[in-house]
Amino acid sequence: MRCCLIAGMLTASFAVCLPGAAAAADPDLSAAGSTAIADVDQRSDELKAVNHAIWEFAEVGLEEHQSSRLLVSKLRENGFEVTSGVSDMPTAFVASYGSGKPVIGILAEYDALPGMSQKVDPERSPVTEGAPGHACGHSGLGTGALGAALAVKAAMDRHEIKGTIRLYGTPAEETVIGKIYMLLDGQFDDLDICLHWHPATKTGPWAGSSKAVVSAKFTFNGVSAHAAGNPEKGRSALDAVELMNLGVNFMREHVKEDARIHYVITEGGGAPNVVPATATVWYFVRADKHEDVEYYFEWVNDIAKGAAQMTRTKLKVQIDTDCHELIVNDPLSELLHQNLVKVGMPTFDESELAFARRIQQPLIEEFGAEFPEAISTAILPLQESRTASKGSTDVGDISWYVPTGGIRTTCMAAESPGHSWQNVACIGSSIGEKGTIYAAKVLAISALDLFQKPDLIKAARAEWTEQMKGRKYTSLIPKGQKPPVRIR
Ligand SMILES: [Zn+2]
Repeated sequence: MRCCLIAGMLTASFAVCLPGAAAAADPDLSAAGSTAIADVDQRSDELKAVNHAIWEFAEVGLEEHQSSRLLVSKLRENGFEVTSGVSDMPTAFVASYGSGKPVIGILAEYDALPGMSQKVDPERSPVTEGAPGHACGHSGLGTGALGAALAVKAAMDRHEIKGTIRLYGTPAEETVIGKIYMLLDGQFDDLDICLHWHPATKTGPWAGSSKAVVSAKFTFNGVSAHAAGNPEKGRSALDAVELMNLGVNFMREHVKEDARIHYVITEGGGAPNVVPATATVWYFVRADKHEDVEYYFEWVNDIAKGAAQMTRTKLKVQIDTDCHELIVNDPLSELLHQNLVKVGMPTFDESELAFARRIQQPLIEEFGAEFPEAISTAILPLQESRTASKGSTDVGDISWYVPTGGIRTTCMAAESPGHSWQNVACIGSSIGEKGTIYAAKVLAISALDLFQKPDLIKAARAEWTEQMKGRKYTSLIPKGQKPPVRIR
């Protein structure tokens, strides 16, 4: 009964305005910054409604039609010039306001994860069994980025600030597709600085790198035959997949510790009594450095060729995407950290803390996990934010083109696992809404600082140039290849 009540309260928060969170405005806040924060506060109900709508649409990568349309319509209503369907992806868009330099970009993502449907409820309870859900919090991510861009525009108007604010609608982050194909298509060429954020279990600047990853599908073609009647006339594509996987699993012993290699068999035959003529295995090959990924990927390719030879099958390799590690930018991380402090953490009420405790309970029971707190309310110092992520993000590729800075804000129960139903519940609740609104404010005032203090851009650019010494952006994606229409 208590659970339903808690869930009910949180669901209802979509419709009513909960106290937002902000601490008293910092006296150091610029006039433009104050305008931006007031703008986010004034439209907080609208932003909560956008998060709720995208959360309900729960569309997977490259199929985020309703989510993308909603964001585009909000941007157009507010005077942004929007080009949608850019770079051969119907759900990608670029929205600009203002003119000339500098051009400050903010990244929006809005794709959901398959099979993760979950109600705003602290116990496992799908809205629709097997349907997608926002287990990475991208409903909030897209909404926070929108709120930031609209707030910057409001401040630019009021304070006559020159330059261009741009919101990038970047689809299919979960398969690291959108930003990469937009980048290869030149959409980021005139950008001076890029800002981004991600919903998280903690708050702090995004000052750690991430892993590079190549995503590729290996398809083997053999000959079908009756598996008992005339197996000598068949050549099994599934055998090739199994031998390839075996080879890669032996390869694992001889790669550096930071490497991560994982696969799923997406096609492996239909019935045991038919020799499978076609089989496909989908691989992610990751490492801390792109050059290591290139090396491992060549090795994996050789193993696949060997498997094809062993089984007398033919091999086809489809590289879907190739993503680089994030280049961290200290001047931007410092600016964003200061602004996280200036705006101040949201406060979470009793019902939200109780909801988070319920979310943590199954993890305590199943894994003996310990949770000193229900929701993390500290702002991590810069030094503690440097831990590299073991996952990958296509924000990494942007950072090879332009100085890029980001933040994470608390939108989930403390220590909640990534890509979990618990996170779907949290980002759909008032906990996620508060973190989203906080992020919108911090990104907005940071963009305004960059517009108003050219030295900040210079410092970010100088450090980026230093970091890029000896690095050259190369891509395993065949030149001129269009993005996939669907990923699965
Ligand atoms: Zn994510």
